[in-house]
Amino acid sequence: MQLYCENCMKLVDGPVCPRCRSRKLRAPQNGDFCLVAEIPYMQAEMLKELFADNDIPCTERSMLGAGIIAKVGVNVGRVRLYVPYDRLDFASELYDAYFNGTPEEPPKPRELLLHHVYRHFKGGLYLVEDVAKHSETQEEYVVYRKLYGDRSLWIRPKEMFLSQVDREKYPDAMQEYRFEPVDEEHPEESE
Ligand SMILES: [Zn+2]
Repeated sequence: MQLYCENCMKLVDGPVCPRCRSRKLRAPQNGDFCLVAEIPYMQAEMLKELFADNDIPCTERSMLGAGIIAKVGVNVGRVRLYVPYDRLDFASELYDAYFNGTPEEPPKPRELLLHHVYRHFKGGLYLVEDVAKHSETQEEYVVYRKLYGDRSLWIRPKEMFLSQVDREKYPDAMQEYRFEPVDEEHPEESE
């Protein structure tokens, strides 16, 4: 039987939550809100309507605030949807049927996109300006600019820039990678 992690609002298999490493797991109760899906904002809006049509209560956690979404577009944010434990199976069926067993979205390319805006997992937006080489180690560094505050210029090893979020340190991070490219406003237009 699966156990419930209160930190992650999620059902997990082991005695330890694989995401936050918590051992304080317990048997799920009917009112516990459980994670159904982490999906892009637009898809979440549709799934919420589907849940509402089927009388499934639903709560959500979104990473970007309304102000940021107004600025950079609604296709940027990802949303986590939660439903009560006693409705989870039904909600999961609806979710699977809705997305027809296809992946949520195409796999993200992990090559670096120059002159592209990236979102840090804590929410800040950065412009990748270029890649520089360390004179002594030949290691490649990403040169990137803060798009808020003092708009200062930063460097970070490219390998680290493209790496995944440390889940043990940041169990609640809303994205898989440390920096993720922000969708273009018109992704259907190719060059
Ligand atoms: Zn957890």
